[in-house]
Amino acid sequence: IKGCSLLNSGTAAIHLALILLGVKEGDEVISSTFTYSATINPVRYQTAIPILIDSEKDTWNMSPELLEQAINDRIAKGKKPKAVILVHLYGMPSKMEELMNIAGKYEIPVIEDAAEAIGSTYKGKPLGSFGEMGIFSFNGNKIITTSGGGALVSNNPDYCKRATFLATQARDEAPHY
Ligand SMILES: *Cc1c(COP(=O)(O)O)cnc(C)c1O
Repeated sequence: IKGCSLLNSGTAAIHLALILLGVKEGDEVISSTFTYSATINPVRYQTAIPILIDSEKDTWNMSPELLEQAINDRIAKGKKPKAVILVHLYGMPSKMEELMNIAGKYEIPVIEDAAEAIGSTYKGKPLGSFGEMGIFSFNGNKIITTSGGGALVSNNPDYCKRATFLATQARDEAPHY
């Protein structure tokens, strides 16, 4: 991971990730049926439309098979999804190899909701580091807590710089601040 933006919540991190990927009104964003509402709320803050995919039974996370079906269905109806938010619920890694291959095949960027999964790895690699961006939560009910807080991480440091900029009133570096 090459960049990190520290934020007030995991929800804000997801919201900023969607903004950075250009998700706006009427866009479709794929995520999981089995997650906390905070995964989906930011999709609606952008007035985008959530498309929710069922789980598979090994990990209880998003089914790769159903993901590909849904992408094909949306493309056939003339609307390619703008992003996929993968969730690692209860710290359990999603089937990353399969899911990332599918998202890659259709060139749809992945946001990893690793709010509950800090410290978890998939084939030795930390969760949150696979997607275009990953998010963590430091809320009171999470693995590491600051009472409230969140982070956006990415291998592209520009996303993190931009996220911090937007999260601090889009202030420029003028001395009067
Ligand atoms: C907690 C949680 C969030 C939101 O994090 P907050 O810091 O509470 O805003 C998002 N997604 C999942 C899966 C969560 O468990």
